[in-house]
Amino acid sequence: MKTVTVVVSVYNEEQALPQFFEAVKTVLDQAVWDYELLFVNDGSTDGSLELLERMAASDGRVKLVSFSRNFGHEAAMIAGLDYSSGDLVICMDADLQHPPECIPRILAAAEEGCDVITMVRTRNRSAGFIKELASAGFYRLINALSDVQFEANASDFFAVSRRAVEVLKGSYREKVRFLRGYVQNLGFKRAKLEYEAGIRVAGESKYSLRKLFSFAVNTILCFSNLPLRLGIYAGILTGGLGFLVMLYTIWTWVRVGTPDGYATIVVLICFMFAVLFLIVGIMGEYIAILFAEMKDRPIYIVERTENISQRRAT
Ligand code: UDP
Ligand code: MG
Repeated sequence: MKTVTVVVSVYNEEQALPQFFEAVKTVLDQAVWDYELLFVNDGSTDGSLELLERMAASDGRVKLVSFSRNFGHEAAMIAGLDYSSGDLVICMDADLQHPPECIPRILAAAEEGCDVITMVRTRNRSAGFIKELASAGFYRLINALSDVQFEANASDFFAVSRRAVEVLKGSYREKVRFLRGYVQNLGFKRAKLEYEAGIRVAGESKYSLRKLFSFAVNTILCFSNLPLRLGIYAGILTGGLGFLVMLYTIWTWVRVGTPDGYATIVVLICFMFAVLFLIVGIMGEYIAILFAEMKDRPIYIVERTENISQRRAT
């Protein structure tokens, strides 16, 4: 019998966990596959860890990987992939926004030989108007800027086969990353399933608009070199502008005698420096990414595990 690993990232979800556990267990107990439920505790500061420990103690199929501190949602999903042993790995949130009722459909798609199953939300009932608009704008931009294509309504709810997991584990250990983006661009046989995102059952969203913004910037830098080329375009543009100003200056000199251009000079200097600093800033961002990759610090640090036999060094 095939096994499915359900990876759940948990960060301060003590209020949502009992309900989630009930719901997911009900679905998995009826599923045609064997299962393991792998919780990754991302440095929760509330009672989540105690809850998870109790769940792991009562059922050997409930596994737990606990981080030494908060490393972020993506790090938690990566750890989930690392420690998973199933033939299929499903990543989902602990707040029931990703309905466990979708799992049988995912398993059916996997039975048909799909390696990458992307869950596409048809409606996001809990995201506000601004978040929705920002998300649509972001996907437009990233699809225009990079040579890979992103599904706009894809979520962190997805499933990957063992073979795809091995690729992700081996070759996508970047420190600045966009896991969802990698998953969508692995290739293999893919399927897209639709689902309606539920409302967060309890607790609150850990993604603020500011966090999302820095996430978006990092993703653009990580998937596109186009911003770097901005320097070349700006150079050509300002070069042309300089040439025109030169022609104008010669012309006034011939007509009036003394070339007068104090205001012009001030305006041009401000403009040029603005462009210059912007480009230096963009280069700085890329250097920061290079620096982070070079230091090669761990994506996450595991403090302890429960019900996990194989040890994995990262
Ligand atoms: N999460 C995490 N680490 C974090 C932030 C969030 O593991 O630093 C988990 C969180 O517990 C939840 C999932 O990631 O299971 C999605 O987070 P959230 O629901 O806050 O995001 P939203 O659904 O609002 O985008
Ligand atoms: Mg959520």
